[in-house]
Amino acid sequence: MSIVSNKTEPLIYELSSPGRIGAALPDCDVPKTELPKSARAELKLPEVSEVDVVRHFTRLSQKNYCVDLGIYPLGSCTMKYNPKINEEAVKLRGFAQIHPYQDADGTQGALEMMYALQTMLGEISGLPGVTLQPAAGAQGELTGILVIRAYHLARKDAKRKKVLVPDSAHGTNPATSSMSGYAVVNIKTDARGNIDLDELRKLADDATVCLMLTNPNTLGLFEENVQAACQIVHDAGGLVYGDGANLNAIVGVARPGDYGIDVLHSNLHKTFSVPHGGGGPGAGPVMVRDFLAPFLPGPIVVKARPERSRRKGKRYAFAMPKKSVGRVKSFYGNFLALVRAYVYIRAFGKEHLREIAENAVINANYLLARLRDTYSAPYGFRRCKHEFVLTGTPFKEKYGVNTLDIAKRIQDYGYYPPTVYFPLTVPECLMIEPTETQSKESLDEFADALIKIAEEARTNPQLLHDAPHDAPVTRLDEVKAAREPVLRYKH
Ligand SMILES: *Cc1c(COP(=O)(O)O)cnc(C)c1O
Repeated sequence: MSIVSNKTEPLIYELSSPGRIGAALPDCDVPKTELPKSARAELKLPEVSEVDVVRHFTRLSQKNYCVDLGIYPLGSCTMKYNPKINEEAVKLRGFAQIHPYQDADGTQGALEMMYALQTMLGEISGLPGVTLQPAAGAQGELTGILVIRAYHLARKDAKRKKVLVPDSAHGTNPATSSMSGYAVVNIKTDARGNIDLDELRKLADDATVCLMLTNPNTLGLFEENVQAACQIVHDAGGLVYGDGANLNAIVGVARPGDYGIDVLHSNLHKTFSVPHGGGGPGAGPVMVRDFLAPFLPGPIVVKARPERSRRKGKRYAFAMPKKSVGRVKSFYGNFLALVRAYVYIRAFGKEHLREIAENAVINANYLLARLRDTYSAPYGFRRCKHEFVLTGTPFKEKYGVNTLDIAKRIQDYGYYPPTVYFPLTVPECLMIEPTETQSKESLDEFADALIKIAEEARTNPQLLHDAPHDAPVTRLDEVKAAREPVLRYKH
């Protein structure tokens, strides 16, 4: 990567010293086989002691910002705290040490957990057909659209070719649609930040496969006409795909199935506290209406015998839905991600689940209220859901400071910056999602920092242009890094 480094710290290869070794093995009790002489030299492995390795990786880990350190206000990503009890549960032998080839008789506990999770996600979404297979939100989207396609084709309705996608949508929505072989048709956002119903009425017709709708949308606003929008598409014979990435704003409060969504994915690594990224992998289960359940990918966990049956033997089994679109993932999805989400949901229980959404929404509105006199909001200051967008355009016009400068300066205050330049429809966009796991104190500290940065933009814009000032690497050439990645230490 092409980077400007402030500090030069030794890399593990530079710490290498010939003959130094980090492991002490017991005497060998089997015949020795020599590695080919040149092997070690060719591999050019670093020769380091244990303490060198530990210090190297500890140093690296301390350069990393994480949810365990502080607010991670990355809009649309729901970077909430990941409770440690989830990690205790995944260490249980029955979860951690089973093998996917073990048969259902020996894994009834794991199947019961999956069955319960399917049921809970079905109840939360109001959509009872559930597959746990997809490995992420994006794969859930693809799965959902394939299910919708299979449904239309099963009805011999092959003329439907276009997917309607609001212009504020996440990039995965149009990507999914075109990967499924469909044309993407954009729908405008109206002046209040909702999907433009007049536009939708014009575009929804007998060539419409579905509408892909994110609600609350990526502006952090609840679609005020969501039922009407779903009705328009249904009247045209299309279905409605719900992008459930923002479920954190409504979980336990509103059910997408109740307001007209037919298919929904949930990002368990957003709403249900499964770690993202390095702590991942995630999971993107898909929930559908009853009439779509036969098309879901399998296997799905089912009850092996009727509820009241006295018959002995296994209680849960795997089954393939009758008209399944096929598997979308090896085995049963990212199993341990499912365990974490299960534990999280059970820890709240039915009665308390809505507190997640209530606190996420109040936190976002509190932060918005603290910032509204300093930053501007593109759609006025409508009551937001779990996140909100601001625009840095006034700073650009008045002081020549752009949103990237603001985001980089936030790092100097010890915070992870919010999402920037998304959604694409908002110029100089800052998208802030505090999540419910921030205290009022931490929200206030973050707001104070943003307000101070706005003042710096006025008085000393160069300070923002040069930020971050105290990071191991400063501004990355992101385009070069993506196009010409240098992945080896030595060429
Ligand atoms: C995160 C997100 C996705 C994609 O989900 P992944 O799990 O990252 O694949 C899709 N849509 C929206 C609105 C998102 O925020």
